[in-house]
Amino acid sequence: MFNNLTERLETAFKNLKGEAKINELNIANTVKDIRRALIDADVNYKIAKEFTDKVKDKAIGEKVLNAISPGQLMVKIVQDELTDLMGGTEASFDISGNPAIILIAGLQGSGKTTFSGKLANYLKTQKGKSPLLVAADIYRPAAIDQLTVLAEQIGVDIYSERENKDAVSIAQNAIKEAKSKNKNVIIIDTAGRLAIDEAMMTEVANIKSAVNPSEILFVVDSMTGQDAVNTAKAFNDRLDFSGVVLTKLDGDTRGGAALSIKYTVNKPIKFVSSGEKMETLDVFYPDRMAQRILGMGDIATLVEKAQAQFDEEQAKKLEKKIRKNQFDFQDFLDQLQQIKKMGNLKDLMGMIPGVGKAIKDVDISDDAFKGVEAIIQSMTPEERGNPDLIDQKRKVRIAKGCGKDIADVNAFMKQFDQMRQMMKMMNKMPMGFGGKMPGM
Ligand code: GDP
Repeated sequence: MFNNLTERLETAFKNLKGEAKINELNIANTVKDIRRALIDADVNYKIAKEFTDKVKDKAIGEKVLNAISPGQLMVKIVQDELTDLMGGTEASFDISGNPAIILIAGLQGSGKTTFSGKLANYLKTQKGKSPLLVAADIYRPAAIDQLTVLAEQIGVDIYSERENKDAVSIAQNAIKEAKSKNKNVIIIDTAGRLAIDEAMMTEVANIKSAVNPSEILFVVDSMTGQDAVNTAKAFNDRLDFSGVVLTKLDGDTRGGAALSIKYTVNKPIKFVSSGEKMETLDVFYPDRMAQRILGMGDIATLVEKAQAQFDEEQAKKLEKKIRKNQFDFQDFLDQLQQIKKMGNLKDLMGMIPGVGKAIKDVDISDDAFKGVEAIIQSMTPEERGNPDLIDQKRKVRIAKGCGKDIADVNAFMKQFDQMRQMMKMMNKMPMGFGGKMPGM
């Protein structure tokens, strides 16, 4: 995400390296580079200029402390200003009503339906809500099918009326349905068009007046850069939405939309979506995004993602098994599957400070675990639970079962064995795996 921008900013700061003091000349040069980097990331010229003017004023006014270098000082100023540009603090999200009504709007293809599913999943799993998804696209039956598939996948109810051609009445009927079924959040996925269109705007505006939503989220494809910003403006003029959802941040996004939207429409970004898996939705934190843009990683989000996936009971059981040297193939497979649910692998690794840049050009496919998974899946439950059982004959059968060479199976067995040896060693260490220090 935003790799090019990150690199360009790093180069701009590097030029300050070796400078003993910050002065008007080196500030001017650095600021010029920052402005160019922003404009190339598809940030509107006016925003980029205002941004760098602020950075310049702050830098000139700043007393240079002995403890930090001009480069570090500049990074800090830019970090603060980026955070500010994207809204400063986390925006609120109002789901207090019963049912809370959330209206989703945006162009066709922006990712509305996918986001509706992700939001329902987030509210269900992270907020303990009982959501009802509503398909209010009366033009494309495929859109109803798509939402139905997602709803099934995440185990959430859906409301649709295939024969009804009035989106307003579908929304109203959905509210009645939610009340009768004790659903406390309604997510209404509306119809989009390929471009701004008067009839589409009127329809969404009519739904808005009829159902009085607590949140109207405008969904926009972040890959579309300045177009995203212009579309946001048109939707906001008409709908006065409450927040923005940026989708497809997993792609080759330059950053323009993320950096310009708040400034242009004065509405906060509330969520960012980065992938097609239902779990890849994040609450938007301006400060964390600023850190990521500056190549500092985002450990806070990574930890939260892990916490959301790993359940404590299971973690305790696993710890016990590891301590008793009983870690088996099934445990390994379960762990792989949990990591995969956290999101796109390259994206996750990019949240570790410094790693994003290192793996920028490396192709890390989500299929990286596939071979190993296939091998484990080709084992019997008994073998999965008892790694020592696997002899040469069984290896041949496992290899055949998953279409791999016996050499692949052998290599994996060896790696697994090394991992278990490591665990054993850790167990013997006084601090390893939660072991107690002697005498404590
Ligand atoms: P809608 O027409 O606005 O409802 O858009 P959809 O939800 O149908 O999404 C359009 C396409 O973009 C689909 O192929 C989705 O799978 C894909 N998509 C949606 N969100 C994301 C995302 O965050 N990342 C990626 N890579 N693809 C996405």
